[in-house]
Amino acid sequence: MSYRVGVPQGLLFYDYYPLWKEFLNNLGAEVVLSSKTNKKILDSGVSACVDEACLPVKVFHGHVKDLKDKVDYLFIPRLVSVKKKEFICPKFLGLPEMVKNSIEDLPPIIDVEINLRNSKLNLAKAVINAGKYFTSNMFKVYSAYNDALNHYKRYQNLISKGVIPIEAITMYNSFFNTNNKVTKSEATIMVIGHPYNIYDEHISMNLINKLKSKNVKIITPEMVDVKKANYYSSKLPKRMFWSFGRKIVGSAFAVMEEKKVNGMIYVSSFGCGLDSILIDLVQRKAEQRKIPFTLLTIDEHTGEAGINTRLEAFLDMIKWRLKNEDYFSTHG
Ligand code: SF4
Repeated sequence: MSYRVGVPQGLLFYDYYPLWKEFLNNLGAEVVLSSKTNKKILDSGVSACVDEACLPVKVFHGHVKDLKDKVDYLFIPRLVSVKKKEFICPKFLGLPEMVKNSIEDLPPIIDVEINLRNSKLNLAKAVINAGKYFTSNMFKVYSAYNDALNHYKRYQNLISKGVIPIEAITMYNSFFNTNNKVTKSEATIMVIGHPYNIYDEHISMNLINKLKSKNVKIITPEMVDVKKANYYSSKLPKRMFWSFGRKIVGSAFAVMEEKKVNGMIYVSSFGCGLDSILIDLVQRKAEQRKIPFTLLTIDEHTGEAGINTRLEAFLDMIKWRLKNEDYFSTHG
C-alpha cells in the first residue's frame, strides 16, 4: 500500500525538500505538498498559531492545515541540530508539539528527531526511525537514503551555480539546464535572511522576482561557498553556534569582503530573536565596507505598497551610485 505523506511548504522546505521527497518516494510513499503560501494559508496559520510565534512559524501552521485532510501522515521532523556543536532555532525543536497543540484532527506525524550536535551517527538513527513507518527492511531504508542524498547533492550544486531554490526544486532532475542567468545585470544584490523568508514568494512579497525584473543579479546565502562562509564566520570574536547565524553572517561577510555585491537586502520576520543579532552584525560590516544596506521586516500586517516603495528607492540609489560615484555614504 502506498501512503500519502504530506510535506508542508514552509520553514526548512527550501533547505531539504529534494532530500525528503526522494527518500520518501524511494520507500514507496507518495509525497503531497501543501499549496504555495497564499493569503488563505497565511490567515489560517495566523488564526491557528499562538500570537507570540514568528511569521514563518504561523505560515507553517497554515500549510499543515492545508494538508491535514489529504494525507495519511505529515512529515514534520524535530530538528535540534544539523551540525556538530551547533544548534538551530528552538522553534524547530518544539514544532511537532506546537502543531499538535494548535491544530485538531491531525493525521499521525512523522516527527523523527534530527540531532547532530554530538555526532553525525545520530543521522543514521533518524533515517532508520523515519524508514520504519514504511518498511522493516533496513537495507531498503539505507539505500533509499543514499540515493536521496545523491539527488540532494545535485540540488545543492544547482543552487551554488546561482539557481534560486524554488526553481532548482522544479528542475533538479535536469541539472544542467540553469535559467537564472541575468544577462548584463545592472547591479548585484545579496538578498539575505532565512530561506523560508527570502524564497517564500508570499512572505517576501515576491522580492526575488521583483529584483530580477529590474535586471538585478541576485546572490543568496545558499549560493555562497560553504567553506568561505565558514571561514568568514570563524573570524567573529565569539564562535557562532547557531547554524543559521553561521551561514547568514559568514556568507554576507564573504560577499562584502570579496566585493561581489553593490547592495544588501536583509529580509527578517518581526520578533525573530536570532535576527536581531545577525542583522546588527551584517549591517555593521556593510557600513564598514560602504555597501548600501536595507532591512525589510515583515509580519502578517505588512503592506506590499510600502515594501515596493522602499525597494525602488533602494535600487535607484544603488544605480545612481554605480553611475556617478564609487564612494559616498550608504545612508544618504
Ligand atoms: S530563526 Fe527567527 S524566524 Fe526562524 S523560526 Fe526562529 S524565531 Fe522564527
